[in-house]
Amino acid sequence: MSLNIVHAQQLVTVRGDAGARRGAALNELGIIPDGAVAVRDGLIQWVGPTDQLPDKNAHEFDATGKIVLPGFVDSHTHAVFARTRADEFEWRIQGMPYMEILARGGGILSSAKAIREAHELHVRYADRFLEHGTTTIEAKSGYGLNLDNEIRMLEAMRNEKRLEVVPTYLGAHALPPEFTERRGDFIDAVIRDLEVIAQRKLAEFCDVFVEPGVFTPDEARRIFAKAQSLGLRIKVHADEFQSYGGTALAVELGATSADHLGAISDADIQRLAQSDVIATLLPATLFTLGENRYAPARKLIDAGAAVALATDFNPGTSPTLNMQFVLSLACTQMKMTPAEAIVAATINGACAIRRQQRIGSIEVGKQADIAVYDVSDYREIPYFTAVNFCIATLKRGATLFPL
Ligand SMILES: [Zn+2]
Repeated sequence: MSLNIVHAQQLVTVRGDAGARRGAALNELGIIPDGAVAVRDGLIQWVGPTDQLPDKNAHEFDATGKIVLPGFVDSHTHAVFARTRADEFEWRIQGMPYMEILARGGGILSSAKAIREAHELHVRYADRFLEHGTTTIEAKSGYGLNLDNEIRMLEAMRNEKRLEVVPTYLGAHALPPEFTERRGDFIDAVIRDLEVIAQRKLAEFCDVFVEPGVFTPDEARRIFAKAQSLGLRIKVHADEFQSYGGTALAVELGATSADHLGAISDADIQRLAQSDVIATLLPATLFTLGENRYAPARKLIDAGAAVALATDFNPGTSPTLNMQFVLSLACTQMKMTPAEAIVAATINGACAIRRQQRIGSIEVGKQADIAVYDVSDYREIPYFTAVNFCIATLKRGATLFPL
Protein backbone atom coordinates (compact mmCIF):
# COMPACT_ATOMS: atom_id res chain seq x y z
CA MET A 1 0.00 0.00 0.00
CA SER A 2 1.55 3.28 -1.18
CA LEU A 3 0.26 6.75 -0.39
CA ASN A 4 1.69 10.24 -0.71
CA ILE A 5 0.09 13.04 1.29
CA VAL A 6 1.10 16.23 -0.52
CA HIS A 7 0.81 20.01 -0.27
CA ALA A 8 -0.14 20.17 3.42
CA GLN A 9 -0.34 23.85 4.31
CA GLN A 10 1.43 22.92 7.55
CA LEU A 11 2.83 19.45 8.05
CA VAL A 12 3.17 19.34 11.84
CA THR A 13 5.80 16.62 12.35
CA VAL A 14 6.58 17.00 16.10
CA ARG A 15 9.94 15.50 15.08
CA GLY A 16 12.94 15.53 17.38
CA ASP A 17 14.33 13.69 20.35
CA ALA A 18 12.47 10.40 20.90
CA GLY A 19 12.17 11.12 24.62
CA ALA A 20 9.55 13.15 26.44
CA ARG A 21 9.59 16.88 25.64
CA ARG A 22 10.08 19.39 28.43
CA GLY A 23 10.56 23.14 28.69
CA ALA A 24 11.21 24.91 25.38
CA ALA A 25 11.08 21.60 23.48
CA LEU A 26 7.36 21.46 24.29
CA ASN A 27 6.92 24.31 21.82
CA GLU A 28 8.79 22.71 18.91
CA LEU A 29 6.35 21.39 16.32
CA GLY A 30 8.79 20.86 13.43
CA ILE A 31 6.38 22.38 10.91
CA ILE A 32 7.09 21.86 7.21
CA PRO A 33 5.18 24.32 4.97
CA ASP A 34 3.75 22.74 1.81
CA GLY A 35 4.72 19.41 3.37
CA ALA A 36 4.52 15.87 2.08
CA VAL A 37 4.60 12.42 3.69
CA ALA A 38 5.27 9.20 1.79
CA VAL A 39 3.64 6.14 3.36
CA ARG A 40 4.75 2.65 2.34
CA ASP A 41 3.55 -0.60 3.93
CA GLY A 42 2.05 1.19 6.91
CA LEU A 43 5.22 3.08 7.76
CA ILE A 44 6.42 6.61 7.10
CA GLN A 45 9.09 6.35 4.42
CA TRP A 46 9.80 9.98 3.67
CA VAL A 47 8.91 13.42 5.12
CA GLY A 48 9.72 16.82 3.60
CA PRO A 49 8.63 19.68 1.33
CA THR A 50 6.30 18.51 -1.47
CA ASP A 51 8.59 19.76 -4.25
CA GLN A 52 11.34 17.42 -3.01
CA LEU A 53 9.19 14.29 -2.80
CA PRO A 54 11.38 11.58 -4.40
CA ASP A 55 8.83 8.92 -5.36
CA LYS A 56 5.60 10.16 -6.88
CA ASN A 57 4.44 6.71 -7.92
CA ALA A 58 1.70 6.27 -5.31
CA HIS A 59 -1.89 7.09 -4.58
CA GLU A 60 -2.01 10.80 -3.80
CA PHE A 61 -3.90 12.64 -1.07
CA ASP A 62 -3.95 16.36 -1.83
CA ALA A 63 -3.90 18.25 1.48
CA THR A 64 -3.84 21.73 -0.03
CA GLY A 65 -5.04 24.24 2.53
CA LYS A 66 -5.16 21.57 5.27
CA ILE A 67 -3.11 20.78 8.38
CA VAL A 68 -1.54 17.37 8.89
CA LEU A 69 -0.74 16.09 12.39
CA PRO A 70 0.46 12.87 14.00
CA GLY A 71 -2.54 10.88 15.26
CA PHE A 72 -3.41 11.89 18.81
CA VAL A 73 -2.25 9.50 21.51
CA ASP A 74 -4.92 9.54 24.22
CA SER A 75 -2.95 8.02 27.09
CA HIS A 76 -5.68 7.87 29.76
CA THR A 77 -9.18 6.54 29.10
CA HIS A 78 -11.75 4.24 30.65
CA ALA A 79 -13.25 3.43 27.24
CA VAL A 80 -14.64 -0.01 28.06
CA PHE A 81 -17.99 0.49 29.77
CA ALA A 82 -21.49 -0.84 29.48
CA ARG A 83 -23.72 2.20 29.92
CA THR A 84 -23.51 5.95 30.22
CA ARG A 85 -24.19 7.78 33.50
CA ALA A 86 -26.49 10.52 32.26
CA ASP A 87 -28.59 10.09 35.43
CA GLU A 88 -25.65 10.96 37.62
CA PHE A 89 -24.78 13.86 35.29
CA GLU A 90 -28.12 15.37 36.25
CA TRP A 91 -27.61 14.71 40.00
CA ARG A 92 -24.34 16.53 39.83
CA ILE A 93 -25.96 19.53 38.13
CA GLN A 94 -28.40 19.55 41.06
CA GLY A 95 -25.43 19.89 43.42
CA MET A 96 -24.42 16.42 44.60
CA PRO A 97 -20.61 16.16 45.01
CA TYR A 98 -18.77 13.28 43.30
CA MET A 99 -17.63 11.63 46.51
CA GLU A 100 -21.25 11.56 47.71
CA ILE A 101 -22.38 10.00 44.42
CA LEU A 102 -19.70 7.35 44.98
CA ALA A 103 -20.82 6.81 48.58
CA ARG A 104 -24.40 6.27 47.34
CA GLY A 105 -23.34 3.43 45.07
CA GLY A 106 -23.17 5.66 42.02
CA GLY A 107 -20.04 6.56 40.17
CA ILE A 108 -17.61 3.72 39.59
CA LEU A 109 -19.86 1.26 41.44
CA SER A 110 -22.74 1.90 39.06
CA SER A 111 -20.42 1.30 36.07
CA ALA A 112 -19.27 -1.92 37.77
CA LYS A 113 -22.85 -3.12 38.10
CA ALA A 114 -23.47 -2.42 34.40
CA ILE A 115 -20.30 -4.30 33.38
CA ARG A 116 -21.30 -7.33 35.43
CA GLU A 117 -24.74 -7.35 33.77
CA ALA A 118 -23.55 -6.80 30.19
CA HIS A 119 -23.34 -9.82 27.88
CA GLU A 120 -20.64 -8.38 25.67
CA LEU A 121 -18.05 -5.70 26.27
CA HIS A 122 -16.37 -3.41 23.75
CA VAL A 123 -14.09 -0.43 23.54
CA ARG A 124 -16.88 2.11 23.21
CA TYR A 125 -16.97 4.58 20.33
CA ALA A 126 -13.71 3.34 18.80
CA ASP A 127 -14.76 4.79 15.44
CA ARG A 128 -15.49 8.15 17.06
CA PHE A 129 -11.94 8.31 18.39
CA LEU A 130 -10.67 7.76 14.84
CA GLU A 131 -13.08 10.38 13.46
CA HIS A 132 -11.60 12.91 15.88
CA GLY A 133 -7.98 12.23 14.91
CA THR A 134 -7.04 9.81 17.72
CA THR A 135 -5.19 6.71 16.55
CA THR A 136 -4.02 5.16 19.84
CA ILE A 137 -5.59 5.07 23.27
CA GLU A 138 -4.71 3.64 26.62
CA ALA A 139 -7.72 2.03 28.31
CA LYS A 140 -8.16 0.86 31.87
CA SER A 141 -10.11 -1.95 33.40
CA GLY A 142 -11.53 -1.10 36.81
CA TYR A 143 -15.26 -1.45 36.37
CA GLY A 144 -15.10 -5.21 36.91
CA LEU A 145 -14.03 -5.15 40.55
CA ASN A 146 -13.50 -8.89 40.44
CA LEU A 147 -11.15 -11.06 38.41
CA ASP A 148 -13.64 -12.44 35.88
CA ASN A 149 -15.03 -9.07 34.94
CA GLU A 150 -11.66 -7.35 34.92
CA ILE A 151 -10.49 -10.02 32.47
CA ARG A 152 -13.59 -9.45 30.31
CA MET A 153 -12.74 -5.75 30.14
CA LEU A 154 -9.10 -6.40 29.24
CA GLU A 155 -10.13 -8.92 26.58
CA ALA A 156 -12.47 -6.33 25.06
CA MET A 157 -9.43 -4.07 24.63
CA ARG A 158 -7.48 -6.84 22.96
CA ASN A 159 -10.38 -7.46 20.58
CA GLU A 160 -10.40 -3.90 19.26
CA LYS A 161 -8.47 -4.09 16.00
CA ARG A 162 -8.85 -0.70 14.30
CA LEU A 163 -7.95 1.66 17.09
CA GLU A 164 -4.69 0.71 18.87
CA VAL A 165 -5.50 0.08 22.53
CA VAL A 166 -2.90 -0.19 25.29
CA PRO A 167 -4.38 -2.12 28.24
CA THR A 168 -4.01 -1.12 31.88
CA TYR A 169 -5.17 -3.19 34.85
CA LEU A 170 -6.95 -0.91 37.33
CA GLY A 171 -8.15 -3.54 39.78
CA ALA A 172 -8.04 -0.98 42.60
CA HIS A 173 -10.41 1.64 41.15
CA ALA A 174 -13.02 1.60 43.91
CA LEU A 175 -13.61 -0.56 46.98
CA PRO A 176 -16.50 -2.95 46.29
CA PRO A 177 -19.19 -2.57 49.00
CA GLU A 178 -18.74 -6.18 50.16
CA PHE A 179 -15.17 -5.28 51.21
CA THR A 180 -16.03 -2.16 53.24
CA GLU A 181 -15.00 -3.82 56.50
CA ARG A 182 -12.19 -5.86 54.92
CA ARG A 183 -10.03 -3.45 52.96
CA GLY A 184 -6.93 -5.59 53.37
CA ASP A 185 -8.70 -8.59 51.89
CA PHE A 186 -9.55 -6.59 48.77
CA ILE A 187 -5.94 -5.48 48.33
CA ASP A 188 -4.88 -9.14 48.74
CA ALA A 189 -7.39 -10.13 46.04
CA VAL A 190 -6.08 -7.49 43.62
CA ILE A 191 -2.55 -8.72 44.23
CA ARG A 192 -3.61 -12.32 43.55
CA ASP A 193 -5.48 -11.29 40.41
CA LEU A 194 -2.40 -9.48 39.15
CA GLU A 195 -0.63 -12.81 38.79
CA VAL A 196 -3.35 -14.13 36.48
CA ILE A 197 -3.48 -10.90 34.47
CA ALA A 198 0.30 -10.88 34.06
CA GLN A 199 0.50 -14.56 33.21
CA ARG A 200 -2.11 -14.10 30.48
CA LYS A 201 -0.37 -10.92 29.28
CA LEU A 202 -3.64 -9.00 29.44
CA ALA A 203 -2.15 -5.70 30.63
CA GLU A 204 0.99 -3.64 30.15
CA PHE A 205 0.36 -1.24 33.01
CA CYS A 206 -1.07 -1.37 36.52
CA ASP A 207 -2.89 1.66 37.92
CA VAL A 208 -4.42 2.49 41.32
CA PHE A 209 -6.84 5.32 42.22
CA VAL A 210 -4.93 6.97 45.08
CA GLU A 211 -7.26 9.49 46.73
CA PRO A 212 -8.80 10.04 50.19
CA GLY A 213 -11.87 7.80 50.39
CA VAL A 214 -10.56 5.48 47.68
CA PHE A 215 -7.09 3.89 48.22
CA THR A 216 -4.19 5.07 50.35
CA PRO A 217 -0.60 5.42 49.13
CA ASP A 218 0.36 2.46 51.34
CA GLU A 219 -2.33 0.23 49.85
CA ALA A 220 -1.21 1.29 46.37
CA ARG A 221 2.44 0.62 47.22
CA ARG A 222 1.62 -3.02 48.03
CA ILE A 223 -0.19 -3.49 44.71
CA PHE A 224 2.50 -1.72 42.69
CA ALA A 225 5.30 -3.77 44.28
CA LYS A 226 3.60 -6.91 43.04
CA ALA A 227 2.92 -5.40 39.60
CA GLN A 228 6.55 -4.40 39.17
CA SER A 229 7.74 -7.84 40.25
CA LEU A 230 5.57 -9.26 37.45
CA GLY A 231 6.98 -6.89 34.84
CA LEU A 232 4.05 -4.48 34.61
CA ARG A 233 4.70 -0.77 34.52
CA ILE A 234 2.98 1.71 36.78
CA LYS A 235 0.48 4.53 36.32
CA VAL A 236 -1.13 6.38 39.22
CA HIS A 237 -4.42 8.29 39.55
CA ALA A 238 -2.75 10.93 41.68
CA ASP A 239 -3.79 14.06 43.55
CA GLU A 240 -7.02 14.50 41.60
CA PHE A 241 -9.14 16.20 44.26
CA GLN A 242 -6.74 16.40 47.22
CA SER A 243 -2.98 16.29 47.62
CA TYR A 244 -2.53 12.80 49.08
CA GLY A 245 0.86 11.39 48.17
CA GLY A 246 -0.01 9.81 44.81
CA THR A 247 2.53 11.85 42.89
CA ALA A 248 5.27 11.24 45.45
CA LEU A 249 4.52 7.51 45.22
CA ALA A 250 4.74 7.64 41.40
CA VAL A 251 8.16 9.26 41.63
CA GLU A 252 9.32 6.88 44.36
CA LEU A 253 8.40 3.82 42.27
CA GLY A 254 9.58 5.15 38.91
CA ALA A 255 6.07 5.09 37.46
CA THR A 256 5.56 5.81 33.77
CA SER A 257 2.99 8.50 34.53
CA ALA A 258 1.14 10.32 37.30
CA ASP A 259 -2.29 11.35 36.08
CA HIS A 260 -4.82 14.08 37.00
CA LEU A 261 -2.75 16.28 39.39
CA GLY A 262 -5.61 18.74 39.89
CA ALA A 263 -4.53 19.23 43.52
CA ILE A 264 -0.78 18.61 43.28
CA SER A 265 1.34 20.45 45.88
CA ASP A 266 4.27 22.70 45.00
CA ALA A 267 6.68 20.20 46.58
CA ASP A 268 5.26 17.41 44.41
CA ILE A 269 5.54 19.61 41.29
CA GLN A 270 9.27 19.85 41.99
CA ARG A 271 9.55 16.11 42.63
CA LEU A 272 7.73 15.28 39.43
CA ALA A 273 9.71 17.78 37.35
CA GLN A 274 12.99 16.20 38.44
CA SER A 275 11.83 12.69 37.59
CA ASP A 276 11.11 10.75 34.38
CA VAL A 277 7.44 10.38 35.33
CA ILE A 278 5.10 11.91 32.72
CA ALA A 279 2.60 14.41 34.16
CA THR A 280 -0.66 13.50 32.42
CA LEU A 281 -3.28 16.24 32.69
CA LEU A 282 -6.98 15.58 32.13
CA PRO A 283 -8.75 18.94 32.02
CA ALA A 284 -11.98 17.55 30.54
CA THR A 285 -12.69 15.81 33.85
CA LEU A 286 -12.56 19.00 35.90
CA PHE A 287 -14.54 20.75 33.17
CA THR A 288 -17.26 18.08 33.34
CA LEU A 289 -17.34 18.28 37.11
CA GLY A 290 -17.91 22.02 36.80
CA GLU A 291 -14.73 22.84 38.70
CA ASN A 292 -13.16 26.21 38.17
CA ARG A 293 -9.66 25.00 39.02
CA TYR A 294 -7.38 22.97 36.79
CA ALA A 295 -4.04 21.20 37.16
CA PRO A 296 -1.22 23.76 37.32
CA ALA A 297 0.12 23.10 33.83
CA ARG A 298 2.20 26.29 33.67
CA LYS A 299 3.89 25.60 36.99
CA LEU A 300 4.59 22.02 35.91
CA ILE A 301 6.02 23.07 32.55
CA ASP A 302 8.06 25.90 34.03
CA ALA A 303 9.47 23.52 36.64
CA GLY A 304 10.56 21.19 33.82
CA ALA A 305 7.93 18.44 33.94
CA ALA A 306 7.07 16.42 30.83
CA VAL A 307 3.37 17.16 30.43
CA ALA A 308 0.94 14.97 28.46
CA LEU A 309 -2.75 15.58 27.77
CA ALA A 310 -5.51 12.97 27.60
CA THR A 311 -9.31 12.84 27.65
CA ASP A 312 -9.92 10.53 30.65
CA PHE A 313 -12.90 9.41 28.52
CA ASN A 314 -15.27 7.60 30.92
CA PRO A 315 -19.01 7.42 31.44
CA GLY A 316 -19.04 9.37 34.69
CA THR A 317 -16.64 12.26 34.92
CA SER A 318 -15.38 12.83 31.37
CA PRO A 319 -17.79 11.97 28.58
CA THR A 320 -15.59 13.40 25.82
CA LEU A 321 -13.28 11.54 23.47
CA ASN A 322 -12.40 14.66 21.49
CA MET A 323 -8.72 15.51 21.95
CA GLN A 324 -9.26 18.74 19.99
CA PHE A 325 -11.55 19.87 22.80
CA VAL A 326 -8.94 18.82 25.39
CA LEU A 327 -6.42 21.03 23.54
CA SER A 328 -8.89 23.94 23.77
CA LEU A 329 -9.23 23.41 27.54
CA ALA A 330 -5.44 23.12 27.92
CA CYS A 331 -5.01 26.46 26.20
CA THR A 332 -7.91 28.45 27.63
CA GLN A 333 -8.02 27.03 31.17
CA MET A 334 -4.41 25.96 31.83
CA LYS A 335 -2.64 28.55 29.67
CA MET A 336 -0.66 26.08 27.64
CA THR A 337 0.32 27.34 24.19
CA PRO A 338 -1.28 25.62 21.19
CA ALA A 339 2.13 24.11 20.34
CA GLU A 340 2.65 22.78 23.88
CA ALA A 341 -0.81 21.26 23.82
CA ILE A 342 -0.16 19.45 20.51
CA VAL A 343 3.20 18.08 21.73
CA ALA A 344 1.53 16.96 24.97
CA ALA A 345 -1.20 15.17 22.99
CA THR A 346 1.13 13.40 20.56
CA ILE A 347 4.74 12.51 21.40
CA ASN A 348 4.40 13.03 25.16
CA GLY A 349 1.23 10.95 25.12
CA ALA A 350 3.22 8.25 23.35
CA CYS A 351 5.86 8.47 26.10
CA ALA A 352 3.10 8.00 28.68
CA ILE A 353 2.37 4.57 27.18
CA ARG A 354 5.98 3.80 26.22
CA ARG A 355 5.29 3.84 22.48
CA GLN A 356 7.45 6.86 21.62
CA GLN A 357 9.70 4.84 19.29
CA ARG A 358 6.73 3.89 17.08
CA ILE A 359 4.11 6.65 17.29
CA GLY A 360 3.55 10.26 18.38
CA SER A 361 5.36 12.06 15.54
CA ILE A 362 5.62 12.06 11.75
CA GLU A 363 9.15 10.76 11.23
CA VAL A 364 10.76 8.24 8.93
CA GLY A 365 10.37 4.68 10.19
CA LYS A 366 7.42 5.37 12.47
CA GLN A 367 3.94 3.96 12.06
CA ALA A 368 1.88 6.03 9.60
CA ASP A 369 -0.63 7.24 12.21
CA ILE A 370 -1.72 10.55 10.71
CA ALA A 371 -4.73 12.88 10.84
CA VAL A 372 -5.75 15.67 8.46
CA TYR A 373 -7.65 18.76 9.64
CA ASP A 374 -9.66 21.19 7.58
CA VAL A 375 -8.08 24.29 9.09
CA SER A 376 -5.32 26.51 7.71
CA ASP A 377 -3.20 27.02 10.85
CA TYR A 378 -2.45 24.49 13.63
CA ARG A 379 -3.56 27.04 16.24
CA GLU A 380 -7.08 26.87 14.87
CA ILE A 381 -7.40 23.32 16.24
CA PRO A 382 -7.55 24.48 19.90
CA TYR A 383 -8.99 27.86 18.88
CA PHE A 384 -12.25 26.40 17.58
CA THR A 385 -13.89 25.03 20.72
CA ALA A 386 -15.62 21.64 20.69
CA VAL A 387 -15.76 21.41 16.92
CA ASN A 388 -14.33 18.45 15.04
CA PHE A 389 -12.21 19.57 12.09
CA CYS A 390 -10.63 16.19 11.42
CA ILE A 391 -11.42 15.06 7.86
CA ALA A 392 -9.23 11.97 7.50
CA THR A 393 -7.38 9.55 9.78
CA LEU A 394 -4.77 6.97 8.86
CA LYS A 395 -3.77 4.12 11.14
CA ARG A 396 -0.66 2.19 10.08
CA GLY A 397 -1.11 3.76 6.66
CA ALA A 398 -4.68 2.55 6.18
CA THR A 399 -7.45 5.14 5.90
CA LEU A 400 -9.84 4.31 8.71
CA PHE A 401 -11.76 7.54 8.49
CA PRO A 402 -13.61 8.32 6.28
CA LEU A 403 -14.40 4.74 5.42
ZN1 LIG B 1 -8.98 7.82 35.12
